[in-house]
Amino acid sequence: MSTIRFKALEKLNERTVPEVTFPSEKVSDYFGSEVFDLPKMQKYLSKEAYQNVLNSIETGSKINRKTADQIAAGMKEWATSKGATHYTHWFHPLTGNTAEKHDAFISIEPGGNAFETFDGELLVQQEPDASSFPHGGLRNTFEARGYTAWDPASPAFIIDKTLCIPTIFVSYTGEALDYKTPLLKSLNVLDKAAAEVCNYFDKSVKKVFATLGWEQEYFLIDEALFKARPDLILTGRTLMGHASAKDQQLSDHYFSSIPERVIAYMKDFENEAHKLGIPLKTRHNEVAPNQFECAPVFEEANLANDHNQLLMKIMRKVAEKHHFKVLFHEKPFAGINGSGKHNNWSLATDTGINLLKPGNTPKTNLMFLTFLVNIIAAVKEHSDLLRAAIMSAGNQHRLGANEAPPAIISVFLGSRLDEMLNKIEQKIPEEKKTKEVSRNLKLDIAKIPEILLDNTDRNRTSPFAFTGNRFEFRAVGSNENNAGPLIALNTAVADRLKRFKKEVDKLIDKKIKRDDAILQILRKYITESKDVRFEGNGYSPEWEKEAKKRGLSNIKSASEAFKAFISKKTTDLYERNNVLNSKELQSRYEIRICEYVRKIQIESRILGDLAINHIIPTAIKYQNILVKSIKDLKDIIEDDNESKKLTARRKETVKKISVHTTQISILTEEMTEERKKANILNTCVKRIENYEFKVKPYLDKIRYHIDKLELIVDDELWPLPKYRELLFNR
Ligand code: ADP
Ligand code: MG
Repeated sequence: MSTIRFKALEKLNERTVPEVTFPSEKVSDYFGSEVFDLPKMQKYLSKEAYQNVLNSIETGSKINRKTADQIAAGMKEWATSKGATHYTHWFHPLTGNTAEKHDAFISIEPGGNAFETFDGELLVQQEPDASSFPHGGLRNTFEARGYTAWDPASPAFIIDKTLCIPTIFVSYTGEALDYKTPLLKSLNVLDKAAAEVCNYFDKSVKKVFATLGWEQEYFLIDEALFKARPDLILTGRTLMGHASAKDQQLSDHYFSSIPERVIAYMKDFENEAHKLGIPLKTRHNEVAPNQFECAPVFEEANLANDHNQLLMKIMRKVAEKHHFKVLFHEKPFAGINGSGKHNNWSLATDTGINLLKPGNTPKTNLMFLTFLVNIIAAVKEHSDLLRAAIMSAGNQHRLGANEAPPAIISVFLGSRLDEMLNKIEQKIPEEKKTKEVSRNLKLDIAKIPEILLDNTDRNRTSPFAFTGNRFEFRAVGSNENNAGPLIALNTAVADRLKRFKKEVDKLIDKKIKRDDAILQILRKYITESKDVRFEGNGYSPEWEKEAKKRGLSNIKSASEAFKAFISKKTTDLYERNNVLNSKELQSRYEIRICEYVRKIQIESRILGDLAINHIIPTAIKYQNILVKSIKDLKDIIEDDNESKKLTARRKETVKKISVHTTQISILTEEMTEERKKANILNTCVKRIENYEFKVKPYLDKIRYHIDKLELIVDDELWPLPKYRELLFNR
């Protein structure tokens, strides 16, 4: 056969496992070799310049021009010694990818002499023509200037002989056009608010960092099969495909041994990641066939997020060498699990304490409790914003589907901790102490019960779960920039901590003892936020009912969810914490909506194209074969009962094909009409409801008939690789 599908399948026989070479046997020998990190700065910078960078990282202080020149010179010296020829400012525009514009170090003197140059001005600021990045109305094309500025907290690195300098990206008028700017601001308010609260318990704390350990899920598909699926190429997901007879029902993929070609790919990208200082640690198979996961050791959140974005880029690139395509889409295949990016998040002090790790002393435990309760209260208060922050055309397939956290935002604590909060709320005094001190969460304050912590208490159905020493925000999409949800979470928590401090101080002013004041306010917060706590199965229909009773929102609609970006509550939250202003929020809202609309638009167009130009002609071809065979049979076989049965069945198949092809053609036409109606409206904001409620449902309706045809039509004629081929070749 000569269909693209069979040609692609033939390619699989040619696959070999590429050799993976390591710079050295021990990863620690080359870890971070391509990063201008602190040890290298110390080597290449003057003492003064080095100290300046350290201060800037620690306190956010500005780097002056003279120091910038020195740093630039050191950076250039290091980079060119490693063969780098170009440099670029590397930033996170709101497209969801990272962007870069390369410039050569080379300059030409008037006499024609070439020399390498790079000064402080080029380090600190660059002016990419930014009119093509999404800005949601913040910038007119005629004033298309955007500025990038170095973020010293994230070190420069070299890829492909290019020195990449992590930067923020802001408009001429100072509005944020990227993810990093508000992320840094949110980390900053969180730092200040959390450090002040820490000082109730520990005066030596000067700084609090958010920590992030992301677990990245992804699918791997052979490149030839991928290229034979126009839907995968253009939308990142399959818009059709009947379920494979076997997929994940035997639960035989999760944690099973990793196939040879895949492990070579993993080693290869891990190797590249390690050179870039990305501390990848974990790799394993995921639940669905051809689905995998990797995770690093957690880091400070801003750096961790840069590393995640960088890793996604590396994973795409290294996949080419291995003839794989890596899919980060949240739901590339219907009927089997989709992919998330679990955000493990916690707070750490500059004195080395993880604030979400229950301690051994009453003091640290009250501190733990304080942060725990404030975080729960923040999630309760801003659950709509958190949901908006994780909503996208891709993630919408996961949220509320039966394999991923529901669209209801709830917090899981584990039964022990949950009980403890209940006891505190009800003022039940501490029980007799047990001997198991190590596993005990001892509070030792007369009014607080002692509790046992069970780290193995896990709930994988909760969107926001406590896992012993951190929270795991599991609902984040695999293709998402973590910064989106992190900005929301950091700001919401910072806001609650500030309020907490104010309320406690008020009681202390009234001569109430500090610990009593803290407990009193915590108790109030526990009561206020109780409804968001849920210990049961988040996938169950009972939870939907229960959540409704509790008044929790369950917003599955994207157009509805996005509204939380510009609600008064959100705007007030971001403005009073100086993270984003209303103009910036409006622009982000519009960008998310446009992205959603355009994705559905593209899916709808490509499905229409495939349906009309690939599927219907194939079905008709097969139908014609059947029709001819019925006629031929008539000529040669007896007119007995058996023969009649045979022709009747064949006619039945012919009819079925007619029904499905007719439906496909009618539905595709209707879908096109709906698109036209939507497109008359002149903005994405006006179009989104049409796209979500009028256009999108056709994707499933049309797919239904195509998938039925896939089961009828001769396998040899079917043009697109099938699920069993996509999911089981590796
Ligand atoms: P699991 O699949 O059991 O949830 P993994 O080992 O796959 O766990 O991933 C756990 C992630 O959580 C890792 O990236 C780890 O570094 C991270 N993590 C652990 N402790 C913290 C912490 N205090 N703050 C942030 N992330 C953390
Ligand atoms: Mg994991």
